[in-house]
Amino acid sequence: MAILVCGGAGYIGSHMVAELLKEGEEVVILDNLQSGYKEAVIGGKLYIGDLRDRAVLDKVFTENQIDSVIDFAANSLVGESMIEPLKYFNNNIVSVMTLLEAMRDHKVKYIVFSSTAATYGEPESIPILEDDKTNPTNPYGESKLAVEKILKWCDAAYDIKHTVLRYFNACGAHVSGKIGEAHNPETHLIPLILQAALGKREKIVIFGDDYDTEDGTCIRDYIHVTDLANAHLLALRRMKNGGESTIYNLGNGTGFSVKEVIEVARKVTDREIKSEVQGRRPGDPAKLVASSKKAIEELGWNPQYASIECIIETAWNWHKNHLNGYK
Ligand code: UDP
Repeated sequence: MAILVCGGAGYIGSHMVAELLKEGEEVVILDNLQSGYKEAVIGGKLYIGDLRDRAVLDKVFTENQIDSVIDFAANSLVGESMIEPLKYFNNNIVSVMTLLEAMRDHKVKYIVFSSTAATYGEPESIPILEDDKTNPTNPYGESKLAVEKILKWCDAAYDIKHTVLRYFNACGAHVSGKIGEAHNPETHLIPLILQAALGKREKIVIFGDDYDTEDGTCIRDYIHVTDLANAHLLALRRMKNGGESTIYNLGNGTGFSVKEVIEVARKVTDREIKSEVQGRRPGDPAKLVASSKKAIEELGWNPQYASIECIIETAWNWHKNHLNGYK
């Protein structure tokens, strides 16, 4: 039986495909290449199409023996979601509804869904636990939270089991150096810092140093993309062994400020990286750090690239050898 990876040509999805292939799984990929790259798909059977297109889904499910789905296909930029909320609600919610309708009709019973720390909003306590209050501060988080609720009702009605994985900050690149993070335009902190190290941009702009944190800059929990991918595989196996639908946080449990990340990147790259403080980015909570105790205990998840130095080293290895991403 095959596993369908929606959004498998994107950053996290392509690392998922690599993990599945390493494990000897049969992989089918569906991606509209809106932000993914064909070149990022290192194996498996790729279909180019949109998840909101039911005909494409019927073709994929009819032509392959698929028993489970891992869904990464979404828009995921906090800043953009504040400006274009309807784009986020359409692409991130309608796509999953269409996918679930097709799964129901083709009798596919398992889905692992990419969610986000942005579902929590400004947390009441740190580290964040899965049953803490969810109150998103941006439409991106809101769109993912809406899908989490839809999944719950689809389990009750259609017996489609789900595992929701709430990622903290995905980063790093595959150790092979063959795949990595390539967004256009790039908005994420670590790739932007590394572009500054490479002289592709003049400086890294720090979005606000007046937050209620030690150095005033935002604190995030950075987690390596291969460790994330590995958790999906464990989640899928748990469901196939009879595990009930549930939610897991995925992070390293340690927070780093924007300034600390820049400092580590200076050491790892041994390059000058200019920085400049500007205003806050709307929608950003001050501090997001995960408790991943539940994933560690229930999934046996064991992150292999947990240190921020190691994460930035793998990202640096990708960026310095792919100055123009996949182009
Ligand atoms: N950030 C920043 N400058 C940038 C990009 C990001 O200071 O050019 C900050 C951002 O405000 C946040 C952190 O870096 O506090 C991580 O942002 P990113 O966009 O990488 O991930 P997000 O937290 O939005 O998922």
